[in-house]
Amino acid sequence: MPLEKLVLPSPLQKLDDQRFVEKSVEVYLKRDDLIHPVISGNKWRKLKYFIAQHDSHLGVLSFGGAFSNHLVALAYACNQRGIPSVGIVRGERSSEQNSTLSYCQKLGMQLHFADRQTYKKRNQVDYWRELQAVYPNYVILPEGGRTKEALLGVGEIITEVPLEFTHIVCPVGSGTTLAGLAAKVQYHQQVIGVAALAKADYLRAEVEQLLMLQDKDKNNWQLMTDFHLGGFAKSSPDLLSYIQRFYQLHQVTLDPIYTGKMCMAFEKMLLADKFPPGSKIILLHTGGLQGWHGFKQMKRVNDDYLASINWLPAD
Ligand SMILES: *Cc1c(COP(=O)(O)O)cnc(C)c1O
Repeated sequence: MPLEKLVLPSPLQKLDDQRFVEKSVEVYLKRDDLIHPVISGNKWRKLKYFIAQHDSHLGVLSFGGAFSNHLVALAYACNQRGIPSVGIVRGERSSEQNSTLSYCQKLGMQLHFADRQTYKKRNQVDYWRELQAVYPNYVILPEGGRTKEALLGVGEIITEVPLEFTHIVCPVGSGTTLAGLAAKVQYHQQVIGVAALAKADYLRAEVEQLLMLQDKDKNNWQLMTDFHLGGFAKSSPDLLSYIQRFYQLHQVTLDPIYTGKMCMAFEKMLLADKFPPGSKIILLHTGGLQGWHGFKQMKRVNDDYLASINWLPAD
């Protein structure tokens, strides 16, 4: 698979929709999905400075699921600098057959499978010690690339935008992207994060913690926790048809885990008059399109559906 060049700065696309006109708002999509066909925009941004500052004599070890956007981005970033990488993958070795993981391997990442019980320990010091004994020359990177450096990389999204916007809306997993945006925007601009997982209220404290790492004490951000549709990677017929409609209107493919839920939540908030007339809103398309592999493999969507949203596997 070719290692396409990264497209930066990512394009900003105006979205035309009668409903936006009716609410007197302007809506733009920041196309971080176009940075690379496989690597999720925000995952790459989160890794950029971490990898740039990393001692290339040491490898990097991190964690992810069998369709992890983070592991793909890490494999890519390490490959670019000739840094060895190890991915601790949740699940059994059989999942190795999937295209996400084989892409990681093609990029030189060594995979290490951890059963669900073990994977649960991924943030525990004891487990890190065990891993460090097996991989002594590796630096351990928290799942999702949640580091101080990540905030700087994410902040560049704001620097790239030439527009005086009032709100930026993003999907939320670990909250790192939300924190990076909040650290960078001006005080009169609002950042709205939409949690992709259930019971996400705990993330508010994590975002605050991350902002503290940047010496930023800001309260111009919010986390919406009611749009997860039952949990991480859970979906609904509504979401699937929403994504289809979004494609028909804008010719942009969303992913089912993060950006589909985020855009659908945005429209619900818009219809509930959460955005005053005159608002200029940016929706952040973080990428993640390779996540459809998981939906396809588990037969949660068929090929006709995928063709209708113009999703083509990149391999
Ligand atoms: C990981 C990911 C997110 C969530 O980013 P966080 O910084 O972990 O909150 C959003 N969108 C996509 C496509 C992702 O891969």
